Amino acid sequence: MERLVVVGNGMAGTACVEQVLKYAKKFDITILGDETHVNYNRILLSAVLAGEKSHDEIVLNSLEWYQQHDIRLRLGVRIAAIDPVAKTVSGDDGCVTPYDKLLLATGSSPLIPPIEGVKKEGVYVFRNLDDTRALLDRARSGARAVVIGGGLLGLEAARGLQVQGCDVTVVHLMDTLMERQVDFAGGSYLKAKMECLGVKVLLGRNTAAILGNTKAEGVRFKDGTELPADFVVIAAGIRPNVELARKAGLQVNRGIVVNDFMGTSDADIYAVGECVEHKGMCYGLVAPLLEQGRVLAATLAGNTVPGYEGTVPAAKLKVMGVEVFSAGDFSESPGNDVIRFEDGALGTYKKLIVRDNRLAGVILIGETADSHRYMDWLQSKTDLREKRRNLLFPEPAADSGLDVAELPDSKTVCGCHGVTKGTIVHTILDRGLTTLAQLKECTRASTGCGSCTDLCLHLLKAVAPQFQEEEKKALCKCIPLSEDQLRDIVRSQKLRSVQEVLDIYGSGTGCAICKPALSYMMDMVWCGRHEEDRSARFINDRVHANIQNDGTFSVVPRIRGGVTSPEELRRIADVAEKYKVRMVKITGSQRIDLLGVQKSDLPAIWAELGMPSGQAYSKGVRMVKTCVGTDFCRFGVQDAIATGVELERRFENLFTPHKLKMGVVGCPRNCAEATVKDIGLVGQEGSWQVVVGGAAGKKVRKADLLVTVESAEEALQAAALFFQYYRENANYLERTYDFVERLGIERVRRETIYAAVAVQQGLRDRLRKSKANSKDAWLEGDQPRHPSQFVQIQPMENVQ
Ligand SMILES: Cc1cc2nc3c(=O)[nH]c(=O)nc-3n(C[C@H](O)[C@H](O)[C@H](O)COP(=O)(O)OP(=O)(O)OC[C@H]3O[C@@H](n4cnc5c(N)ncnc54)[C@H](O)[C@@H]3O)c2cc1C
Ligand code: SF4
Repeated sequence: MERLVVVGNGMAGTACVEQVLKYAKKFDITILGDETHVNYNRILLSAVLAGEKSHDEIVLNSLEWYQQHDIRLRLGVRIAAIDPVAKTVSGDDGCVTPYDKLLLATGSSPLIPPIEGVKKEGVYVFRNLDDTRALLDRARSGARAVVIGGGLLGLEAARGLQVQGCDVTVVHLMDTLMERQVDFAGGSYLKAKMECLGVKVLLGRNTAAILGNTKAEGVRFKDGTELPADFVVIAAGIRPNVELARKAGLQVNRGIVVNDFMGTSDADIYAVGECVEHKGMCYGLVAPLLEQGRVLAATLAGNTVPGYEGTVPAAKLKVMGVEVFSAGDFSESPGNDVIRFEDGALGTYKKLIVRDNRLAGVILIGETADSHRYMDWLQSKTDLREKRRNLLFPEPAADSGLDVAELPDSKTVCGCHGVTKGTIVHTILDRGLTTLAQLKECTRASTGCGSCTDLCLHLLKAVAPQFQEEEKKALCKCIPLSEDQLRDIVRSQKLRSVQEVLDIYGSGTGCAICKPALSYMMDMVWCGRHEEDRSARFINDRVHANIQNDGTFSVVPRIRGGVTSPEELRRIADVAEKYKVRMVKITGSQRIDLLGVQKSDLPAIWAELGMPSGQAYSKGVRMVKTCVGTDFCRFGVQDAIATGVELERRFENLFTPHKLKMGVVGCPRNCAEATVKDIGLVGQEGSWQVVVGGAAGKKVRKADLLVTVESAEEALQAAALFFQYYRENANYLERTYDFVERLGIERVRRETIYAAVAVQQGLRDRLRKSKANSKDAWLEGDQPRHPSQFVQIQPMENVQ
């Protein structure tokens, strides 16, 4: 069997090996890499730095994968020399590995500009996992960080560090940020957005020296001015790793020169990824390496395939809330048509360059939803004459994005992982996928920079019948309309009672499915100002207690944040004794449950407890579980108790599409399991993470990061946006974990945290109104809605 040796266990080398494994021809494969980790998704290092992902979550190929495919993997070994005559490579540990075919996938290294003192302690780069870990170790709340370089990498590093609590300044040589991807006007929008996030930006600064004796204490610019810093990150570009190839006598310019089949000047040595130069181009992106890997794998297998023709460069900034997409050539040379739109108030900037009726380049800032459409036009060189009137804004019919049906199967949907439309469609059909999460797991599509998420959702909707059905499903057999349609109808027709909806749009009577759902819808749409129809509620909501298997009820008083007092405990004990409560039990959510209560005793018990209802029976806000945080815990960095109590106070007594559990912890040790709650607030040094869509019941799901903010109040505000958004948009009985998965966290973020100010204000106003019209359900004990409300339950009563 022929020996294929790969130098570099990064994204290009391993992606190419994955392709080789798909072809019939077998190779005896060895991968040699100088990093000590299995192959991970380098582009998600920004997400690791920003605390959005852990290291485990960005692993692309686990150790088992290498074992399953009989790949010999050697990590932590740097290949120092190639002997093309003897056909061996030698490692810096003395190991010599023979090859028949050699693949160089050595990637790039950070470019270090000639700045005096760059070797000082406290000067970092941002290229690999070890760099990221070092930065995370160094980042402290309030630490002053200077990031040299205002390109894509520099801005992502800056935002990551700022999220970690650092006071960050980006220093850029040019007079505009990301000048390779956006023009001057776009750069000013980008600058404003970064500054809005709290990242300072200094343009036109040429860094001459790192200040400090042995440790970095600041930077000095060529103009003599200085900026103090506790540490410095250099993100000034990349340099292809070509030394190994050069020493072996291969043709090397800026990168290792390759032909259309990824062959170097030596017939048995190939190269892919960032280390190569093809037709004078070196790329710093994932998409080219995937295309190159496919061509090379087919070539190695002896297949005749079209050669690599180059890739249209495209970049997306992965900073939450700063939407930037750029592709192709955006220079305004003579003969190019420039089509531009800007709206300073919206923070939106769009620029298209059309040459010979074809798209040559695009810049999108603020709104990037159409990036796939433009990418498609760029790659397919579509003649735009007929679309000329709608270039900047899609026609209404196609407003939801690129018409997926028009895409050929070979079209790449996920550029980060090279997943084509054909692969996605076949995987959906073959495996019967119905959710975005399943699609992500099976294909990796949409797990990179996230820009293809909408397109993946369109494909799911188009191809997965269940997905489509779910979206358009009629509420039940009584009403042939979906919940989305009904919400619109209730709002626009100003219908204020369940019965009105049933009379006009349904069977007139309703059933156990539509009546509670409509009842919830009324409450949510009219913020509590509607005609309440009690018969439309579940039994638990009618008597404000949880019915048990023997027909008795459980009573759970509200104990905000799980914090009670001796006085409350005494009252609970007195009530338990007086009403012969069968069991007093601590619940899983740090509350006290009085079990085995007779229905007729409920009003008296509530009155004597003198505490509000814990809503433990309803499709509503349940509780907030907290840890002890800074109050008592020696690890605590945030006040979990006060924040948790406040969170519960703000949302209590409100109904939600399904039960809603929350958690607040004072540090990432997560003692109150906030990351598996519907809404969780996780305290960090100098910041809070707001996570949503977690579950630890029948389904276990780690919550997705919604946003990282600096203060507890901001975290509460962010939680409120999500809370109301979920209340208004989820289907009835849809838990947050299904809701977030169905929509995708990117969309949830877009429509809450990064929504227009007016949209956010609307969500907040409606939440405020609902809250103002809500009240403690147990107050009803004094005035039953009807005489039999608290009469002992009959055995035949319908328990829904
Ligand atoms: C923070 C960050 C964010 C990014 N974001 C994006 C993005 O949004 N979109 C995008 O398209 N691209 C992005 N990129 C770029 C993308 O990650 C790279 O294009 C891609 O990883 C290149 O893959 P590669 O295999 O060629 O190089 P690498 O991934 O660098 O892999 C090369 C490997 O070879 C090893 N190696 C080098 N020399 C030797 C030797 N002599 N012996 C043994 N091992 C050796 C290196 O240590 C490395 O592990 C980002 C990069 C970074 C760092
Ligand atoms: S999560 Fe952190 S702060 Fe809270 S109790 Fe656990 S260790 Fe302490």
